[in-house]
Amino acid sequence: MPTLAHKIGSLLFCPHCGTLLSPPKDDEQTVICEQCSYEEPASSYENIEITTRSHPEAFPSALRQKRKTQTKVHQGKVLPKVSEKCPACGHLEAYYEEKQMRSADEGSTILYTCASCKHGWRVNN
Ligand SMILES: [Zn+2]
Ligand SMILES: [Zn+2]
Repeated sequence: MPTLAHKIGSLLFCPHCGTLLSPPKDDEQTVICEQCSYEEPASSYENIEITTRSHPEAFPSALRQKRKTQTKVHQGKVLPKVSEKCPACGHLEAYYEEKQMRSADEGSTILYTCASCKHGWRVNN
């Protein structure tokens, strides 16, 4: 097993001296540490890109909402829509928002807002 760079978020650090490695140029197969000449395969960066691009829904809701606002802005924030029956009008689509409670063992609360009549209700997880 070759030693690979340490990954922190989307950044790679040299496993020998801890120096931040710069991303490879288009045709480069390796990234070379400026401090100790360690060589990291450029494929390590490809893996990072695939992971962050193909699983946007796997991220916590705070991150996900940030991504959604890049494509569509509606009253400052965009909430995901889910199939949930509105207790007020019976409409089958509602906007979904998850609120994390202050203490971890209190879990989280789901806030729904009816897509039709804007009635709001909450469900504790
Ligand atoms: Zn190094
Ligand atoms: Zn409704």
